[in-house]
Amino acid sequence: MGNEFERKQRIAVVGGGPGGYDAAIAGAQLGGDVTLVEQVGVGGSAVLTDVVPSKTLIAVAEATNAIGEAADLGVQFFSRSETTGRPVRPEVAVNLTAVNKRLLGLARQQSEDMRASLIRAGVKIVQGHGRLDGPDSVIVSTAAGPDGTDFDQIDADTIVVSVGASPRILSSAVPDGERIFTWTQLYSLTAIPEHLIVVGSGVTGAEFASAYTALGSKVTLISSRDQVLPGEDADAAAVIENVFKRNGMTVLSKSRADSVERTADGVVATLSDGTTVEGSHCLMAVGSIPNTKGIGLESAGVQLSESGHIRVNRVARTSAPNIYAAGDCTTFLPLASVASMQGRTAMFHAMGDAVNPTELRNVASNIFTQPQIATVGWTQRQIEEGIAQGDIYKLPLSSNPRAKMMGIKDGFVKLFARTGSGTVIGGVVVAPNASELIFPIALAVEHRLTVDQVSRAFTVYPSLSGSISDAARAMHIVL
Ligand SMILES: Cc1cc2nc3c(=O)[nH]c(=O)nc-3n(C[C@H](O)[C@H](O)[C@H](O)COP(=O)(O)OP(=O)(O)OC[C@H]3O[C@@H](n4cnc5c(N)ncnc54)[C@H](O)[C@@H]3O)c2cc1C
Repeated sequence: MGNEFERKQRIAVVGGGPGGYDAAIAGAQLGGDVTLVEQVGVGGSAVLTDVVPSKTLIAVAEATNAIGEAADLGVQFFSRSETTGRPVRPEVAVNLTAVNKRLLGLARQQSEDMRASLIRAGVKIVQGHGRLDGPDSVIVSTAAGPDGTDFDQIDADTIVVSVGASPRILSSAVPDGERIFTWTQLYSLTAIPEHLIVVGSGVTGAEFASAYTALGSKVTLISSRDQVLPGEDADAAAVIENVFKRNGMTVLSKSRADSVERTADGVVATLSDGTTVEGSHCLMAVGSIPNTKGIGLESAGVQLSESGHIRVNRVARTSAPNIYAAGDCTTFLPLASVASMQGRTAMFHAMGDAVNPTELRNVASNIFTQPQIATVGWTQRQIEEGIAQGDIYKLPLSSNPRAKMMGIKDGFVKLFARTGSGTVIGGVVVAPNASELIFPIALAVEHRLTVDQVSRAFTVYPSLSGSISDAARAMHIVL
């Protein structure tokens, strides 16, 4: 009979989004006996309702924009009128039913691919709702056919909780999935909304407002702050707000929507100053709440923050020594990339492998508006407040030859380098493909490269990345 040290470590993972998925894969790779509990579908909200569908929709919006802007480059679209034989300018029309069918199909496929990878890695998948029964056990309620609910118990040496978050619902603006939506419901739309009111100008609100403007909706963005994207780089937010307005979006700053109600053929939002905004549809993008209620966390010894997020350290460990947590249900950054990293780190720590504690400062993130905003490292605000000592250099893309060729009108590269040493400590890129351009800056931040080391690497001429090198060159520290 084997002793305790010979048996595999039993790992239970609750939630199959990026956090749970990566934890499960890493746990199996390191030799654990892994069971993953998921109540909806592998891939989680990230794949089924959030990242994959929204970024696919945004890719369509980018294609629509590219067609619209091609005229600036001298590209002309004509077809011939059947009656007069004269050239007519065709209109760009988006078939939203086809777009949504495709993006939901992509999401389903991605979920199935991830499920297959888990099975290949030897992970057992249990479909159902999981809750902790003390620190060493997970109870799963599964809908067991027509007779109702069945229960499964998973005993575990290590538990990873990665249950994600759900859209915050205001009682005065309850989504009905027909006229008033959360972002998870938007993909049931079959036609481009005539006038979409977006409540909330954080990342999700700004991304959808940007996309639906490009797709052809009239959009009104209701923002409680004086600038969209509060908390982001102020120059970047100013560029985006400017582009939004230039493209015809109405941005209502310092406006709070007290309620949103249905009318006979649309919606009406009532602002706190009593004014009303009428539209055909409304997207509520007012944040998320963690799915941590009622799943036995507190009684298992897991501490939560006031907002209900699980407190974790940099190796994703909670206050209970054998319980880890990853992703949007934790006090870390709500990003799929961070969730995955936390999931892997948790397993490496639990299984005694080499661990690199997650450094939030080095997380690169991107806002998929048009243009995009990508950031990494310390922020300008932190430098200006004296929290970090750094020099700031901003280079508008208007001086970049490739940007001119491509007809790029807006955007910039901004670098932050430690005063004295020139070590790159952060940066911002506002450009059509900023999500790709931020990587060299993220590498510099992660590996503490100086501006001189960055500028010594070749960039292609002409290229947008040339502006990163140009900014680094301009920050050269004369010895
Ligand atoms: C519109 C939108 C766009 C976004 N775009 C990006 C982006 O471009 N890039 C990026 O990095 N991030 C993006 N995010 C954030 C990203 O979606 C989240 O950070 C990511 O989903 C977090 O992963 P997770 O594993 O913590 O949770 P989730 O993906 O939410 O997965 C949690 C899973 O747990 C399951 N679950 C919950 N409770 C239980 C339970 N009790 N038992 C069993 N299963 C349970 C759920 O069904 C779900 O499948 C976006 C978010 C939104 C809202």
